Amino acid sequence: TQQTVAVVKPNALSEKENIVKKIEESGFKVSLSKEQQLTKEIAEQLYADHKDSEFFNELTDFMSSGPSLFMVLTREDAVMGWRALMGPTDPEEAKQSQPESLRALFGEDKLKNAVHGSSNVENAAKIIPVVFGEEAIA
Ligand code: ATP
Ligand code: MG
Repeated sequence: TQQTVAVVKPNALSEKENIVKKIEESGFKVSLSKEQQLTKEIAEQLYADHKDSEFFNELTDFMSSGPSLFMVLTREDAVMGWRALMGPTDPEEAKQSQPESLRALFGEDKLKNAVHGSSNVENAAKIIPVVFGEEAIA
């Protein structure tokens, strides 16, 4: 099995119960879960790969604007499987191509797209101890 990090972003926190239900129905185990408002600094670590992007500041402001739900998901092929359940980055595209995906259902726009998923196991492993503490390392 594999682990990934899933985040319900601030704009979708009111839908967390529906989102967790879909996660569990898709065969993921929620191994760790924590609701917290990210500091700007942790938001910057979460999206470190985007630090040179033009939307980095807007993105990290948004991610630290209110509470989010952080989860560690465990399943076979968790990284790709969770990304598939999220759907495309842009909710408008998601509504066209994958209307059952979480971003189609709960995303507002390209920025406020409801959920985050690690892009690979290395990124997941880096952020897990930042959010859950060193003792959370698998
Ligand atoms: P995430 O990393 O959040 O799971 P992703 O991997 O689908 O999403 P990335 O390209 O990594 O997409 O972008 C990270 C996040 O940055 C997006 O989820 C979205 O919140 C925001 N974002 C992406 N593109 C834009 C854009 N053009 N304008 C504003 N925000 C954007
Ligand atoms: Mg990404």
